[in-house]
Amino acid sequence: MPAYDYRCAACRHVFEKKQRITEAAGAVCPSCGHEDCERLITGGTFHLKGSGWYASDYGGKTSAPASEAPAPACGGGGCGGGGCALAES
Ligand SMILES: [Zn+2]
Repeated sequence: MPAYDYRCAACRHVFEKKQRITEAAGAVCPSCGHEDCERLITGGTFHLKGSGWYASDYGGKTSAPASEAPAPACGGGGCGGGGCALAES
């Protein structure tokens, strides 16, 4: 069961809560009892593989990873350096 970090909007207390993936996001602050704590997307405890997950589940709430990120230039020297921006810098 993954654990999520939450930050209380009222007192800024940060705490961790374990909950199922299917469980609705939400937590009560153990410090002050505030019921609408913000879930922090840290990825530290629960690792997601693949880039499509954010786009489908979070509907653009956060900046989704680019699904078509440009291939890194000079990835191992395949370009030979001629005219390559990375080789010049
Ligand atoms: Zn609080």
